[in-house]
Amino acid sequence: MSKITDEVFKNVVSHAKEYGFVFPSSEIYDGLSAVYDYGQNGAELKNNIKTYWWKSMVQMHENIVGIDSAIFMHPKIWKASGHVDGFADPMIDNKDSQKRYRADQLIEDKIAALDAEGKTDEAEVLQTDMDAALKAEDLQRLKEIIIDARIVCPISKTANWTDVRQFNLMFSTQMGAMAEESSEIYLRPETAQGIFVNFLNVQKSGRMKIPFGIAQIGKAFRNEVIARQFIIRMREFEQMEMQFFVRPGTEMIWYDYWKQARLKWHLGLGTSAEKYRYHDHTKLAHYANAAVDIEYDFPFGFKEVEGIHSRTDFDLSQHQKFSGKKMQYFDPELGEDGKPYGNYIPFVIETSIGLDRMFLLTMINAYEEEDLSTEERQDSRVVLRFPPALAPVKAAIFPLTKKDGLPEKAREIMDRLKLDFAVQYEEKDAIGKRYRRQDAIGTPICITVDHQSLEDNTVTIRHRDSMEQERVPADQLEKIIGELVSWGKLLA
Ligand code: ATP
Repeated sequence: MSKITDEVFKNVVSHAKEYGFVFPSSEIYDGLSAVYDYGQNGAELKNNIKTYWWKSMVQMHENIVGIDSAIFMHPKIWKASGHVDGFADPMIDNKDSQKRYRADQLIEDKIAALDAEGKTDEAEVLQTDMDAALKAEDLQRLKEIIIDARIVCPISKTANWTDVRQFNLMFSTQMGAMAEESSEIYLRPETAQGIFVNFLNVQKSGRMKIPFGIAQIGKAFRNEVIARQFIIRMREFEQMEMQFFVRPGTEMIWYDYWKQARLKWHLGLGTSAEKYRYHDHTKLAHYANAAVDIEYDFPFGFKEVEGIHSRTDFDLSQHQKFSGKKMQYFDPELGEDGKPYGNYIPFVIETSIGLDRMFLLTMINAYEEEDLSTEERQDSRVVLRFPPALAPVKAAIFPLTKKDGLPEKAREIMDRLKLDFAVQYEEKDAIGKRYRRQDAIGTPICITVDHQSLEDNTVTIRHRDSMEQERVPADQLEKIIGELVSWGKLLA
């Protein structure tokens, strides 16, 4: 991480806390590792990102519907999906510092360090060795690689390592009040399985015809071995996932379609295309026949924000096998041979985006420390240039002073606008200070009520980005704000 970007990232994190976007969880008890709370502005921003996603997936597609499945699910689901046996990371402990690490991450860090030193040949050998060990699930070999590469614990600086063990990332708990009744259940590590097990419920009750999709937004839980980089890797996080059910043999057409469509969704927010890249997977998960990540150029480098996976018929077939219930769809359409396609288990293209990573991306992308100095005086502001539809507060209303009936007039406008928009009323401090506070949370416009407003019912609007001001009739405010924050601008 270079110095400058490190600095910007730190500033974004402290800004997020200072202005009520993200707080460390349980802070008064010194926090809980890799768990975060969203504050008053964070909760609004997060809801708006969800709305943008939901609208673009569900509202804009006649053949996609949304569901909300429970976090608790029958434990057999996770056996069928492969999570009980396979959802694990290789971990290793340092006996001196008692710290736990992901074995592959330690090696990755060493590779990055070698690269930085220009020892690219050595780095390449290490990478090849690690890939081979991971592929063969050879834990003993992973340890040997760590020892041979002289990797030490960043805390104790020793190479006094335990063996490498597989560590399952699922959280488990007990369901049922009585000990004899209770059975182990899991907190879901992904929302997708709630969609798979409801596939026929939705298809039948909604009379859905293939191809069709089911979307869902919800919490997922992973006991990550190491948690880093703020809300990039959390133990409790939120996913926005969509499973698109297609006729076998057509999956690559839909894979390409969703690969393009999802990047378009990201760019719809006005982010420059250079900030994004695709990363094709070369090592595929057991269920996939193609997979690509959409990565964003964070201050600490490109990181996955979203995955698009062609999951074949793996999940539905597994559920058919484990539940003993048919997971087939009857396709009445006629094929080239003039006969109906008939019964089959559909193939699935999945789009899976992490809401929290998208939140951080949106914060970083919007954050600007702007120098406003003139020859006479030094000045600056922090402004969050959110797309207006995503802004936590759409407009702030200020009486110029706290007297002469101005607060009453401003309140009257506020009471009207709050029926349609998230608005805020502020009368404390000078107008300039109030502008700065709203800039810092990304409010697209501020409306000031002054003495003239009492006479001719006009107000001053000040725009966040240009800082320009204009005088407008107060009864035009709904229209002006409505156009500014319209979802249509992002979705078109
Ligand atoms: P990574 O390789 O970074 O661990 P992943 O490939 O395991 O991610 P998926 O299982 O494909 O991730 O999950 C889909 C999305 O969920 C990711 O693109 C990411 O945005 C988000 N996500 C996954 N794990 C976490 C986490 N621990 N904290 C926050 N978001 C996460």
